Amino acid sequence: MSNLASISAASPTKPARIPIREGLLSAPLTDLSAVRLLGSRCTSCGETALGTAEICANCGRDTVNSLPLSRRGLVWTYTIVRHKPPGDYKGPDPFVPFALGLVELPEGLRVLTPIECALEQVCIGVPVEFRAFVREPDSEPEVVSFAFAPSAEGEARD
Ligand SMILES: [Zn+2]
Repeated sequence: MSNLASISAASPTKPARIPIREGLLSAPLTDLSAVRLLGSRCTSCGETALGTAEICANCGRDTVNSLPLSRRGLVWTYTIVRHKPPGDYKGPDPFVPFALGLVELPEGLRVLTPIECALEQVCIGVPVEFRAFVREPDSEPEVVSFAFAPSAEGEARD
């Protein structure tokens, strides 16, 4: 069955998706494998930051360009979160401990992110890869979040 997509109106059965934070993920959010983290780079001072911005946080000029960030980086450091974070935590219930890392990207910035892997697998310097996912599938609109996981071309060969 051929269908020329929904040009005029969104389907009521398929809610729109929004990024977990405005300006953090590339659009569209329909194909999650194509989604990238967005950054910004100031052409005046060279400051690179996570997320899009109109004004440079370093020099205050408006010479900031949007910059799709690399999908791959290295774990710069990490911790294991063993207690449920306070507030509006959206993870599994009951709580499951997870790795939280700073991933260094080739653009020169570090991203605070969950690291999806067995806790004993995470270590400093391990190559990891970006992954976008729908955090709350039952919400409307769906909220798209992200994590990093050890990349397939790492040392593990399974
Ligand atoms: Zn600047």
